[in-house]
Amino acid sequence: MSDPTPSVRPIPTRRNGGVSGDAAAPAAIEVAEQVVHLARLVHGGGRDDGLTPAQWTALRYFARANRFSRTPSAFSDFHATTRGTASQTVKSLVAMGLLERRPNEQDGRSALIEVTPAGQARLQEDPLGALGALIDTLPEGDRQAFSATLARLTGAMARLRASPVFGNCVDCGHCDTSLAGPAYCRCTQTLLVESEMRALCADFAPATTR
Ligand code: SF4
Repeated sequence: MSDPTPSVRPIPTRRNGGVSGDAAAPAAIEVAEQVVHLARLVHGGGRDDGLTPAQWTALRYFARANRFSRTPSAFSDFHATTRGTASQTVKSLVAMGLLERRPNEQDGRSALIEVTPAGQARLQEDPLGALGALIDTLPEGDRQAFSATLARLTGAMARLRASPVFGNCVDCGHCDTSLAGPAYCRCTQTLLVESEMRALCADFAPATTR
């Protein structure tokens, strides 16, 4: 599969001839606009659920991240924001009782961030659920193709921005399943438990590009 990482070019517009008028083949920039618009619609419609989009992203992230990645700094990489902004978002959720800090047994200098029972209950109202339900209505082949396309674009964009790519053990080049018993992570040098295999990881390295 070819690397879709694009070189940096001016944004194409109708004025510079970069936007196609061909309805059957929308210009790339129009598709990019649709992706951003779709993401904004998740939190649109005059909703007031008491959390900002950044707070929802943090709550969701700490519910899905594995034990190596439940730190404010990993969240700042995931959310493509500064350490300070990520830390403020986490602090606000701790103050609301939706997240809590726990000692990190692997690193005494840092704390792990966990979702509280109140945070888990709040996630039942996650506005992203509406988009998930719509994606669920797609035929399975479309869903798989959509997911694969998004993964390729996310990886390429992360490389373009020199940002880490997040993923899970199932697709990770560090994951060794060649031995009998549990899988082994060559990066963190730990045995993996089944329930972690699909959790988000900050140390993920796509198997296909290693
Ligand atoms: S195998 Fe990869 S995704 Fe899984 S814990 Fe290790 S680095 Fe993270």
